[in-house]
Amino acid sequence: MAGGDNDGMAPPSPGVAAVPACRPGCGACCIAPSISSPMPGLPHGKAAGVPCPHLDDALRCRLFGQPARPPVCGSLQPSHEMCGPDRQHAVRWLTELEAATRCD
Ligand code: SF4
Ligand code: SF4
Repeated sequence: MAGGDNDGMAPPSPGVAAVPACRPGCGACCIAPSISSPMPGLPHGKAAGVPCPHLDDALRCRLFGQPARPPVCGSLQPSHEMCGPDRQHAVRWLTELEAATRCD
């Protein structure tokens, strides 16, 4: 998830490429994608490219572990492909994904 967390992830098995941990201070996946699910203060979700208002000052999710956190947030897990080496990569990758999956 989104949301600057990597909690609950299983340790990698021997011989399997390790799943990266969420990078502190990134927050790209709480900014670049649109979210259509309702959440507190945002009954229609949020637009792409807009920082989620539930990010704290350290770009971590204030709703983490709470029922109000949209399930879609927990479904987006860190990956080498998405997170890349830096935040700029992640924002670009997620923005391209958003454009490729937009339905309008
Ligand atoms: S609720 Fe907002 S801050 Fe929390 S994980 Fe979802 S998009 Fe990120
Ligand atoms: S793009 Fe990756 S590193 Fe950045 S907030 Fe999302 S999961 Fe964390």
